Amino acid sequence: MKRLKILFLPLIIIFLTGCNWNFYLDKPLPAVTVNNDLKVHYLDVGEADSIFIELPNGETMLIDAGEAQDEEKIADYIENLNYDTINYVIGTHPHADHIGGLAYIIKNFDVKNIYMPKVAANTKTYENLLKTIKSKSLSITVAEKDKKIINTENLKAYFLAPENKKYDELNNYSAILKIVFQDKSFLFMGDSEAYVEKTLTDVSADVIKVGHHGSNTSSSTSFIKKVNPEIAVISVGENNKYDHPDKDVIKAYEKLGTKIYRTDLNGNIVISTDGENLDVEVEK
Ligand SMILES: [Zn+2]
Repeated sequence: MKRLKILFLPLIIIFLTGCNWNFYLDKPLPAVTVNNDLKVHYLDVGEADSIFIELPNGETMLIDAGEAQDEEKIADYIENLNYDTINYVIGTHPHADHIGGLAYIIKNFDVKNIYMPKVAANTKTYENLLKTIKSKSLSITVAEKDKKIINTENLKAYFLAPENKKYDELNNYSAILKIVFQDKSFLFMGDSEAYVEKTLTDVSADVIKVGHHGSNTSSSTSFIKKVNPEIAVISVGENNKYDHPDKDVIKAYEKLGTKIYRTDLNGNIVISTDGENLDVEVEK
């Protein structure tokens, strides 16, 4: 009987710790100590996405890692900022222009958490990514609506999508992330399309990473009016074969008075905030 109790004790501790963790994420924790600005680096990876984020609490996040051909460029960029740890890696959806370089990043950095939507792809790139995650003894946390990554009074990061259901189009499984730091908020749309846009709530943001490289399958006028961003960033390749970004998408943002930055024209784009003001630096 005595031995049984000893065996159960660790299980009870794990159970209680697990409960506390969930409890705290549902209710905002007190404000975190802020030593830094929130710095969002939209990397120029052509017709693909990769966004590296320095969080004000000292943690780091990577949303997507471009095509495989850009993996070293992304790794060098993060290393040049003097980071060897990435606290949160998000693969928005399993298309090669988003997860192409992720396996390389996971191999070469101390990655703590990985978030991806619950959808598979029958590709070598995706299989290779899963193998790499397993070989590093990491696991994937499902990215879905209402899941919170960080929940404190002055810094929050949480998913607005996808919902736990089936979509016809892989793009619509995109993990959509919102980060709020004091008075400023950033929205990261992945490649999600108009079909998803009309289901979203809580979309208002100061800065949006425009959905699907500025394609007209995303950025419906009613949606971008609801977001009403001060700045829109389009991650898009120079002279890409899809003719992205769409002229009408650009016009719709301009009509709102939104300032547009594009990786094909501006190179790497860095947007920083102290929680009150936005500052933009471009490579070109
Ligand atoms: Zn894409």
